[in-house]
Amino acid sequence: MTSPTPNPRPQFPVLSAHAVGKSYGTTAVLRGVTADFHAGTATAIMGPSGSGKSTLLHCLSGIVAPDEGAVLVRGHHIETLGENERSRLRRESFGFVFQSGQLLPELPAIENVALPLILGGATVREAKRKANALFAPLGLDGLEDRRPGQMSGGQAQRVAIARALVTRPAVLFADEPTGALDAQTSWEVMRLLRESAREIGSALVVVTHDVEVSRWCDRTLTMQAGSLVAREVAA
Ligand code: ADP
Ligand code: MG
Repeated sequence: MTSPTPNPRPQFPVLSAHAVGKSYGTTAVLRGVTADFHAGTATAIMGPSGSGKSTLLHCLSGIVAPDEGAVLVRGHHIETLGENERSRLRRESFGFVFQSGQLLPELPAIENVALPLILGGATVREAKRKANALFAPLGLDGLEDRRPGQMSGGQAQRVAIARALVTRPAVLFADEPTGALDAQTSWEVMRLLRESAREIGSALVVVTHDVEVSRWCDRTLTMQAGSLVAREVAA
């Protein structure tokens, strides 16, 4: 008799999409997308421009409400939450890194990074202490007082990563995080994103056009015309 196969993934997915559909007007942008995302794993979402990658990310993160299907965060339906609870979930459990331009230009780096904690009710002193601790690991030592306009694109993107990590989010979403960077800087930014997410135990979800970026991930989901057409697990 064979013994029962051990379950390789005993834990609940931190995030799940079940048959998610979304239309704008008469155009179906997402058509029944189903996927699970587990703590500590990294997923690349690839596919042609206009295939629905950003819309999927927005549905997964509670920014856009799907027309059909469900999104579950730690088993709880996100669509049943009120607007305040959804904002709180985004602030406390999700981190976001975008292509560029999302830092507040008038604030020094340290305050940009501390902001999510301050908005969540932490004291400025405590928020800055936690923010400060991220500067050295992300190679940002000495840049605490610089404003975004006084940094390179790669430095600004590392500050954006620090800001996304400061709440130790359950899910780290990144939409084309290297889209405005050269190859060398992209490599460094992905290394930092991947290693930080693993250390915190966040599920990393990265939308990208770049095969090099997807190589940092454990699997790649491919979108085409609003559907997931391929799921590849990295060797
Ligand atoms: P991707 O990120 O893969 O390039 P998107 O998810 O941004 O694709 O967009 C998918 C399709 O949905 C595109 O045709 C886009 O024009 C359309 N779309 C996205 N957001 C909106 C919106 N807020 N209103 C109307 N159409 C939208
Ligand atoms: Mg997009």
